[in-house]
Amino acid sequence: MAKESTPKEMQRIDYNPPTKGWMDTPVNIKPGMYCYPAKPEKIEDVGMPNPHKWSVTDEDWHLPADWKETFLEGMRDRLQKHRSFKIFMDICVRCGACADKCHFFLGTGDPKNMPVVRAELLRSVYRGEFTKAGRILGRLAGGRKLTPEVIKELWYYFFQCTECRRCSLFCPYGIDTAEITIIGRELLNLLGLNINWIQEPVSNCYRIGNHLGLQPRTYKENIEFLLDDIETYVGIRINPTFNRKGAEILFATPSGDVFADPGIYTLMGYLMLFEHIGLDYTWSTYCSETGNFGFFTSLEMAKRLNYKIYAEAKRLGVKWILGGECGHMWRVIHQYMDTFNGPADFLEEPVSPITGTKFENAKSTKMVHITEFTADLIRHGKLKLDKSRNDHLRVTFHDSCNPSRAMGLLEEPRYVIKSVCNHFYEMPENTIREQTFCCGSGAGLNASENMELRLRGGFPRANAVRHVHEKYGVNTLACVCAIDRAALPALMNYWVPGVTVAGVTELVANALIMEGEGPRTKNLRGEDIPGREEAGNV
Ligand code: SF4
Ligand code: SF4
Repeated sequence: MAKESTPKEMQRIDYNPPTKGWMDTPVNIKPGMYCYPAKPEKIEDVGMPNPHKWSVTDEDWHLPADWKETFLEGMRDRLQKHRSFKIFMDICVRCGACADKCHFFLGTGDPKNMPVVRAELLRSVYRGEFTKAGRILGRLAGGRKLTPEVIKELWYYFFQCTECRRCSLFCPYGIDTAEITIIGRELLNLLGLNINWIQEPVSNCYRIGNHLGLQPRTYKENIEFLLDDIETYVGIRINPTFNRKGAEILFATPSGDVFADPGIYTLMGYLMLFEHIGLDYTWSTYCSETGNFGFFTSLEMAKRLNYKIYAEAKRLGVKWILGGECGHMWRVIHQYMDTFNGPADFLEEPVSPITGTKFENAKSTKMVHITEFTADLIRHGKLKLDKSRNDHLRVTFHDSCNPSRAMGLLEEPRYVIKSVCNHFYEMPENTIREQTFCCGSGAGLNASENMELRLRGGFPRANAVRHVHEKYGVNTLACVCAIDRAALPALMNYWVPGVTVAGVTELVANALIMEGEGPRTKNLRGEDIPGREEAGNV
């Protein structure tokens, strides 16, 4: 287990190829590398099929009687429905360009974590069950039959993929292994084989409104506690509105930021920023989640969860939606929203009420990313900033996979950080921007029982942070994703102690000079700002 291995031990990764081919290497399910099964009642909550009790370590996973037909029928259906899936099943030439691009392969040395092999696990079933050559020639044509052992292997490795899409950047044919994982997980879900770390948030979000299952009252109270903290550290009282009809903008963000450290500091940042510019906006206790764990379950579930953001915008009669710092939520919004539930023509094309900027890129989704919004405010000189308050921070930026690769959000966070911090350092080129390395915990894998997997998968990211930590003294890892804020602290504590994790809007708020503020001797975490303990604000 990870906790028993030192970083030095964990770094000893065996990249030697196995003596046998991958089809002859049976799956070896190891503790620390997988998440616990979904609880049947959480599957029932959302009407998904085949809820049942099973254990990963049991020989018999209690698959439904018609498991094979269900899986193959589901696959046939998706081969017809998704042209990309059919193409990805057909065209890989096994050139190997993607082989060493996955953080899970780099962190484990397990060949089945090479994207090409991960996809081949399902592709071999496609060949063996759906193609004439595969049906007749079997292994000679790269085909195999679907068996319970194959199901176990698919489950183990599709839940060792964070759907980060890094591998797709390097494939000359544009094969996107994340899309294969998405379909693979959908098929496993037909058999009731989800993991609970995904299923329970899905159920909570569907029934209560957010992944954490915070009731509307609790959601509001948590924000009110943070308002008290702002009053303590900044000296002003903010009174935001909730569920207010007729507000110009609906602000929606992941519930993780309402609940846990360090996301709560980012949320305090939103509150301060909006107060500073006098934004006419409202929070919603119904649309209290923008993250979408449905996306890690099935596209249909993702669609259902995405819907409530827009239903709430309609109910409240807002003009457009401002979205907080989240990762996969933005992938869903940018790449799927229009065909799921959009275009959202009942809303207006977003225009900043402060600068007049039209956000053309949000023409159809009507949803603007907070760092685009903030960057625009800064560019128009609308924020009063004292960046020297962040002088004790030496900052680097982790491009979260989805905002960077799925929506091209590369410059705005950097522009914002450089506007509020004097010391910014980039990690090596092949580890940032579109080539960014995943945190290792995305796509619903940020549980605690699979910590070894997370630490191994996060190793390439941590290694790049370690580089700038040692070279420039970087002590702060900024990010724009709630899962990153939840997952990266454990990764840093293990691989690069001394580096803390912060949302970009937290850094903005620390630098923000607010009207009527008191002496700013402490940051939003209640820590003394070095050099200002006695002097007060300057
Ligand atoms: S999508 Fe990411 S995690 Fe999945 S195989 Fe590709 S690089 Fe690995
Ligand atoms: S880079 Fe593309 S074509 Fe080459 S092995 Fe990987 S998925 Fe197949």
